[in-house]
Amino acid sequence: MPPRLQLSPVFRVHTLPSQISCRRSYASSSATSPEIYDVVCVGGGPAGLSLLTALRSSKLTSNLRIALIEAQDLQKNRLRDPSPDAYSNRCSSLTPGSVRNLQEIGAWSYIHASRVQPYQEMQVWDGITDSRISFDWTSASPLPFTPRKLSQPTTIATMVENTNLTTALLARLSSLGGVDIFSPTKVSSIELGSQTPDVDLSSWPILTLSDGKSLAARLLVGADGANSPVRTFADIQSRGFDYNRHGVVASLKLSGPGWGGPDHKTAYQRFLPTGPIAMLPLPGNMATLVWSTTPERAAKLKSLSANDFIAMVNAGFRLSAVDLEYLHTLPSGQEEEVAWREHHTPIKEKDIPMKVVHVQENTVASFPLRMRHADTYTGERIALVGDAAHTIHPLAGQGLNQGQADAAALTRTISAAVATGQDIGSLLALEPYNDEQYAANNAMLGICDKLHRLYSVESGPLVGLRSLGLSAVDSMGWVKGLLMGRAAGG
Ligand SMILES: Cc1cc2nc3c(=O)[nH]c(=O)nc-3n(C[C@H](O)[C@H](O)[C@H](O)COP(=O)(O)OP(=O)(O)OC[C@H]3O[C@@H](n4cnc5c(N)ncnc54)[C@H](O)[C@@H]3O)c2cc1C
Repeated sequence: MPPRLQLSPVFRVHTLPSQISCRRSYASSSATSPEIYDVVCVGGGPAGLSLLTALRSSKLTSNLRIALIEAQDLQKNRLRDPSPDAYSNRCSSLTPGSVRNLQEIGAWSYIHASRVQPYQEMQVWDGITDSRISFDWTSASPLPFTPRKLSQPTTIATMVENTNLTTALLARLSSLGGVDIFSPTKVSSIELGSQTPDVDLSSWPILTLSDGKSLAARLLVGADGANSPVRTFADIQSRGFDYNRHGVVASLKLSGPGWGGPDHKTAYQRFLPTGPIAMLPLPGNMATLVWSTTPERAAKLKSLSANDFIAMVNAGFRLSAVDLEYLHTLPSGQEEEVAWREHHTPIKEKDIPMKVVHVQENTVASFPLRMRHADTYTGERIALVGDAAHTIHPLAGQGLNQGQADAAALTRTISAAVATGQDIGSLLALEPYNDEQYAANNAMLGICDKLHRLYSVESGPLVGLRSLGLSAVDSMGWVKGLLMGRAAGG
């Protein structure tokens, strides 16, 4: 059981850029300072926006007074007049469970549907031994425990640009109204309030914003990402390590819509000793890349010309780890070198993604990969959701999905507290949220970490064992069905 930690009295951000607060909607202009809110959420990323949308769309919690503080300009980050040939390089695969949540809170109908891509098949293989596991709902054995009334799902996951998701959540939130949005506004400091003759705020977090405004929170939610200021204020430790790996992302155009045609899309992931390379389908011939590799190789990939970069991505799915190692040492000229090597390598094209023919300008970028887990998600008047609570290796595409599950679970906890007349900020009322999410997230963090380690090994008995394991699971239809059910969020 993780230790419970007390609030530390002051968190202060030392850089205070002067930003204009664009405050929208329904806050009263009362002269009292600070303004009192039931819920103040710091962070308007996918987790924070999902939580607030869920709170506003539920009858039990729709009367709460809510504020959102986001350092970036939420208006600017919206998806506007998007072109069908241009995709953001930050995409996520949403499990059917996450999509269901988004439907339930009314956000999914605001998604630009033409820009999302469900996929039905997944091909995962070992870059050293080539042993492979494939997941395909269309050929999977029926789940042994699926209730008769429920049909087997057909979608493994749905690819969505993160901006498409946040734009939809914002649109739903603004249709519901009732949230005071401070954006672009940074939290400058958080400290505990005090007791006055009128009101006792001595256990309440008081936030000072970059525009000088002051807000008191009955419940302060940290949805403020991996470096969460709210977590720092609450003195909740976050433990873990850096993987010494970067995730290289890019938006790509393939030579065709995929081997199964436009209606049957496949996600591909090949485990290389430096990390997995994954190609996830987007609509039409588009795809998104996540290549986890060493910081040095990530820097090299980012420095290449478009043609050399394309050649490296194609090689990442086709050539041996030894070839790739050599190709990374070349300052340039990968295009010619890969063409020559591919010509001399037997390649079964159908089990790998179609060839990349174009990389969208300015989309090659990289992000450091970390594993972090907060000691607890709750404190007195504090709750953490999303990356503020946990950061996970992207190899199983779970980070954003975990944040969606956090948001749904915290909404249930707050609703139960409202229904039973409890103080929604009390540690006792918040306990069920921690109970529901902590162990589940911890297990997923452990699985992804172990997978990363297992596939980082290049030689020795472990390599043989992991291949045996993959082949064994691949031949057991019902086990694969179960795995797919779990991955789908069922
Ligand atoms: C390469 C890569 C690929 C990934 N692929 C997937 C995938 O396929 N599927 C998946 O589920 N997940 C994926 N993830 C993980 C996913 O992107 C994150 O888990 C998710 O975006 C986190 O959302 P969040 O809302 O918790 O945090 P964030 O998106 O980090 O949002 C935090 C917000 O808080 C704001 N903020 C911070 N400090 C302050 C402050 N002081 N004042 C005001 N505002 C503040 C920030 O501006 C930011 O908008 C991937 C991650 C990486 C790196």
